Amino acid sequence: MVRISEEEIQAVRSRADIVDVVSHYLQIHRKGKQYRAVCPFHDDHDPSMNINPDLQIYKCFVCGAGGNVFSFVQNYEKISFPEAVGRVASLIGYNLSVTPEAYTAKSDPHKENLYKILNETIRFTSYQLNSQEALSAKDYLHNRGLDDEIIAKFEIGYNPGNDSLYRFLHAKGYSDAALNAVNVARMTESGIHDVFSQRITFPIHDAHGNPIGFSARALNPENTSKYINTNDTELFTKGDIVYNSHRARTSARHEGKIYVCEGVTDVIAFAKAGIENAVCTLGTSCTTHQISLLRSLAARIVFCYDGDAPGQAAAYRAARMARDAGCDVSVILNKTGLDPDEIVRSQSAEALKEMLKQEVSWMEFVLNYLSNRYNLNSYLEKKQFVEEALKEINQLTDETDRRYFTDEISRISGMRVEFRKRDQSAAAQPLKKLSVRNGADQAEEMILSMMMNSPEAAIKFEEELGYLNKPEHQTLAMMILDARHTNGICTPSGLIDMSSDESIRNLITSIATGSDFAKPYDEKVMNGAIRKVKITVLNSEADAYKQQLNADLNSVSRQLILNKYANCLRELRRYIDEENSQ
Ligand SMILES: [Zn+2]
Repeated sequence: MVRISEEEIQAVRSRADIVDVVSHYLQIHRKGKQYRAVCPFHDDHDPSMNINPDLQIYKCFVCGAGGNVFSFVQNYEKISFPEAVGRVASLIGYNLSVTPEAYTAKSDPHKENLYKILNETIRFTSYQLNSQEALSAKDYLHNRGLDDEIIAKFEIGYNPGNDSLYRFLHAKGYSDAALNAVNVARMTESGIHDVFSQRITFPIHDAHGNPIGFSARALNPENTSKYINTNDTELFTKGDIVYNSHRARTSARHEGKIYVCEGVTDVIAFAKAGIENAVCTLGTSCTTHQISLLRSLAARIVFCYDGDAPGQAAAYRAARMARDAGCDVSVILNKTGLDPDEIVRSQSAEALKEMLKQEVSWMEFVLNYLSNRYNLNSYLEKKQFVEEALKEINQLTDETDRRYFTDEISRISGMRVEFRKRDQSAAAQPLKKLSVRNGADQAEEMILSMMMNSPEAAIKFEEELGYLNKPEHQTLAMMILDARHTNGICTPSGLIDMSSDESIRNLITSIATGSDFAKPYDEKVMNGAIRKVKITVLNSEADAYKQQLNADLNSVSRQLILNKYANCLRELRRYIDEENSQ
C-alpha cells in the first residue's frame, strides 16, 4: 500500500474549504457569518452543527462531534483517512500523485477472490450477449431502446443455459464453495447449477464500485419470476443496496442532488436521457441504511417513483424516512401514471426531462399526496386531511414556510386553519448533559487553547509545566508541541489530522470553538492557569503522602516521606500565596 505524502495531505487541506465540502453532503444554512447544518452524527432536527470557515473546522453543539474537512468526510462516509483525503481531493479537483487503488487497503484476500469471481462473471456474460444463443436477448434489449453504448456502460450481459457460466468459472479454478458464496451458482440435490440461467444480467456494485451481485431478467415469458436478484450473501444485502451509486457519485456531487427511482431500468432510462445522477433501491421500500448511503451522495435527495398509486405511496414513505433522518428532500410530481423507463420509451428522453422540472419540496408533495388520499368532499375526511397536514407543518422550522403551508391547507381544504407557533415540546432536542468541569480541567483547557494559538504559550508550557493531568489533555499538549517543532505552525485543522482518536479530535474542536480561543495571548492568564494546574497536582501529591504516613513504616522511610510531604506543602503554600496576591 502506498501512502499519500504529508505534503500532499497539507496541500489538499489548504485548498479545500470546509463550507464548500460539507455543502456537498448537507444543506448549509447561513446566518450572518455563521454556517450551520443539521448534524449527521446524531438524531438532529434543528441545525446544531456549526461550520467555521476561519478555523476550517466543524463542531456540533449537541453531540460534541467535531473535526476538519477530512474527518468530516471520513466519519460521514465511514471510510479510511486516505480515502477521505482522496475524496476531498477529487471534490476540489486536486490531482493526487497516487491513485485510489494504491492507497486503499484491500487486505482481505477472501473478499478479493469473491470480487474476482463476480468480475469474471460480468466479463463472461457481456461476451455471451453477442453469442448466437443470446440473439433474442439482444433483440429484447434493442427493442427496449437500449443501444450498444448503454449496454456496455451498464455491463448488461447474458447468462446462457446449460450451466455454461459454472463450467467456465470451474475451469478457471474457482471452487464450488466460492461460486456458491457469491450466488452465481447454487448447490442443489442434482449438483451445482447457474442461478441466472437464460437471463439478462444487470451487475450491481457497492458504493466503491466493487461488484456484489446481479439483478436478472428472464427471457422466457413463461418464467414465473420476471426479475430475480442475487440472494443475500456476505457481499450482497438487499436492504443495503443503492444501485448505480458508484457511477452516479461524481455527477450527484456536481448537481447537488441525487435522483432515486424504483428500478434498474429507470436508472438506465435516466442515463439514456443524459442524466447520470440517478440510482435505485431495488424495490420500493427504503431502509435507514439506504438513506444514509443516499445522503452521502448529495445534499438533496429527489424521489422519482412511478406515477401510479403504489409508486406515490412508496415515494411518500421513502421521502418521509429521508426527511426524518434530516435530509433535504424533494419529490418529482409524476402525474403520468408511468415509470421513468416507460416515459422515455413511449414518449421521449425530453419528456422525462420535462417531468423532472416538476420537482416540488417535501411539504408541497405531502399536501398533494394527502389531498389525493382523502376525499375532500367529505367533511370527516377533510378534517383528517387537515390534521395530518398540520402534523407535518409542526415539523417545519422556518416560520415563513409554516405560514405559507398553513394557508395552503386552508386553500386546499376550504377550512379556516389558524397559523400556530411551533410546538416546541415536540421539536425539543435531547440536550446533552453539561459535564461539570472542575477548575483544574478548565485551567488545562485554557493552557491548551493558548498553546494552540501562540508559540510563546507553547514555550512557556515546555519550560514551566511540561505536563497536564488529564491524559487526553497531556496527549494534545504533546501533539501541539510536536506540530510547533516539526511544522512551525499549529492550526486546529492540522492538529485534527495528527490524531485518529475521536475524543482528541472532539477536544480540539471544543477548544477551538470556545470563547477563549480567539483572545490574544496574555501571559498573566497563562501564569494563572499554570498555577492552578500545579496547585491541583501538589494537592493530590500531599494527599498521597498523608496516606503513606498512615501505614506501618520504619523510621527511615517515615522520615523520608515526612520530608517530601513538608516540601510539597511548602511549595503548595507558595503557589496559594501567589494566587491570593493576584
Ligand atoms: Zn451532533
